Amino acid sequence: MSDTSPLPDLAARVRGAYLGFAVGDALGASVEFLTAGEIRARYGELRDLVGGGWLKLKPGQVTDDTQMSLALGEAILAARAAGEDWSLPRVAEHFAAWLKTRPIDVGNTCRRGIVRYMQQGSLEATPHEGDGGNGAAMRNLPVVLATLSDQDDGPGSRFARYTLAQCRFTHHHPYSDAAALALGRMARRLLAGQGQDAARRVADDLAAERRTFRFDPYPRRASGYVVDTWQTVCHAFFSTADFESCVVLAVNQGGDADTNGALAAMLAGACYGEDAIPPRWLRRLDREARQAAADQAERLAGLDRPGHVPPSARS
Ligand SMILES: [Mg+2]
Repeated sequence: MSDTSPLPDLAARVRGAYLGFAVGDALGASVEFLTAGEIRARYGELRDLVGGGWLKLKPGQVTDDTQMSLALGEAILAARAAGEDWSLPRVAEHFAAWLKTRPIDVGNTCRRGIVRYMQQGSLEATPHEGDGGNGAAMRNLPVVLATLSDQDDGPGSRFARYTLAQCRFTHHHPYSDAAALALGRMARRLLAGQGQDAARRVADDLAAERRTFRFDPYPRRASGYVVDTWQTVCHAFFSTADFESCVVLAVNQGGDADTNGALAAMLAGACYGEDAIPPRWLRRLDREARQAAADQAERLAGLDRPGHVPPSARS
């Protein structure tokens, strides 16, 4: 962040995280499954929401990353409206309802988990070596926002319990768990206005604890494997100092460019705020997704409740 720009306020960071996430999804989806070299040959550098890609998207159209996040967010808000704090069965029902809409894209592990629930009613996948994809970690922003007012995000906190519950609904894998928790804690610090250094300490702690998660130097793998996603997202966020540079760097690695772009943009939006998102990107972003993301962001974080200020944002 530049020394001259004022810190964005909490509402701008909260909206920036969710709108950023959706914008990163829409930008990256155009080049999902391409290699960095193929992107260079075709676009030079992809910097605009052009649509297309293997899903033949309209410019600004979002994919499963944003849709699953919105489904999780709706489930949390529905639970809250019913006087419950959290309801995994509601989350399961919202994911199942989303799958029934025949979404444009669904990750294999996500589909398997939702179908298992629909057939057997079980709310947790059995641990599986092959479930180390990024599909659970990618959709956790609503949990981050809904628990933002808690001081505690350690083991056993609401943040940690809800994160692991929604992740293991489809992905029961230690790397998925670790990445979702760390990305969530990084987003929490950024949303609280603590800046890039505080997020970096979370990332470095995970990398020190598990060498697999080291991201510096960047190994230049950007697949949907959650470790590759983690490294790509950390590299893009920590080696840049503004929203656009971060997201452009992430998606131009190719691979799972929509998810990697969405998560990098989530961190950048939480750090630099809504106003740092290029207006040309926001204008192109699918209207419905844009409205839903902004609306959910504020409601999940409790900003629609007068007088409510999350303690973690008071420091
Ligand atoms: Mg996607």
